Amino acid sequence: MGKLTVENVQVLIVGAGIAGIAAAVWCKRLGLTAVCIERSDHIGGQLQQIHNEIWDYPPKTYANGAAFLQELKAFAASAEVDCRLNEALIAIDISQKRVVTEKQTYQVEYVILATGVKQNQLSSLAGSSIVLPPSFSTTTHGAKLAGKRILIIGGGDRAFESAYNLSEYARHIWIAVRGSRLRARPEWTKRLSSRSNVTLFMETELLRTAEEHTPRGVFLQIQGRVEPLFLPVDWVLPRIGVRGNSDEVPGLSRYGEGFLLTNTFQETSIPWIYAVGDVTNGAAYASLSLAAGQAMRATKHISQQLKKG
Ligand SMILES: Cc1cc2nc3c(=O)[nH]c(=O)nc-3n(C[C@H](O)[C@H](O)[C@H](O)COP(=O)(O)OP(=O)(O)OC[C@H]3O[C@@H](n4cnc5c(N)ncnc54)[C@H](O)[C@@H]3O)c2cc1C
Repeated sequence: MGKLTVENVQVLIVGAGIAGIAAAVWCKRLGLTAVCIERSDHIGGQLQQIHNEIWDYPPKTYANGAAFLQELKAFAASAEVDCRLNEALIAIDISQKRVVTEKQTYQVEYVILATGVKQNQLSSLAGSSIVLPPSFSTTTHGAKLAGKRILIIGGGDRAFESAYNLSEYARHIWIAVRGSRLRARPEWTKRLSSRSNVTLFMETELLRTAEEHTPRGVFLQIQGRVEPLFLPVDWVLPRIGVRGNSDEVPGLSRYGEGFLLTNTFQETSIPWIYAVGDVTNGAAYASLSLAAGQAMRATKHISQQLKKG
């Protein structure tokens, strides 16, 4: 069994999104031996979900995340980063400095966690048959919802982008936002304002789904209304934000929903474990440029620690 194999690695990077790949490249640049493990069968992480133009990663503008990823893949290949796909982190043995993955065990000097984020789930939707899964892609599968009435829950970019994509096919879309302010970027709210089949409910909470009704639908509690509102919908699509992918390392200090606390050098509460990218930045500061910059800082700090001996 592979887990009996122990491989020595100076820096083990977990996650091959922009943060992990940037860390691997910086390890090369600084002469550190590094392995990057990635749970999925591809690099890039969230880049695959970006369908807007990327114009805030100077000096180039990319049509979307796929265009960015194409160049990132080519760059990672030319830099010969050791990236191992289909290999997920399972646990870190803090006392032994060992990292256990699905395939083997690594004896490490340093770990860089670049594991990004995952979608939050709503407990009021658990077990409901009218809820679309978080993985539902509105760009790839939007046409399957042609003529349907859809409730999207959330006020961030993903909620608005999903609404925009689905509004091309759906009979009507409602967006329910719990708070009184939107998190979505203005470019998304502007694009969506051109669609006549989209209605926005602010300060609104989903109470429960009602599959037993004809037609089926949901009950919403809207701020200022005494009675809950029954809304007939065919499907509910939750897009309610993200949490840090940090469950495999429970011993680290956190803030918010699973986001890892670090110092200015990206060190977590365990000094030889670093965190970079969205897993430490949270939704408010999620960006490609910050993730790449943090990767440099973590790697440089590791290099300096190694020189000190
Ligand atoms: C719709 C959308 C639009 C956006 N638009 C922009 C934009 O215009 N400009 C901008 O700067 N930013 C944008 N962002 C934000 C940007 O995409 C993220 O900040 C950035 O991609 C985060 O990179 P990351 O490497 O930290 O995490 P991720 O890209 O999430 O990568 C994490 C990787 O870790 C892997 N992983 C997780 N757990 C494990 C494990 N246990 N073992 C092994 N591997 C694991 C995952 O499979 C994933 O590949 C956008 C994001 C979205 C969703």
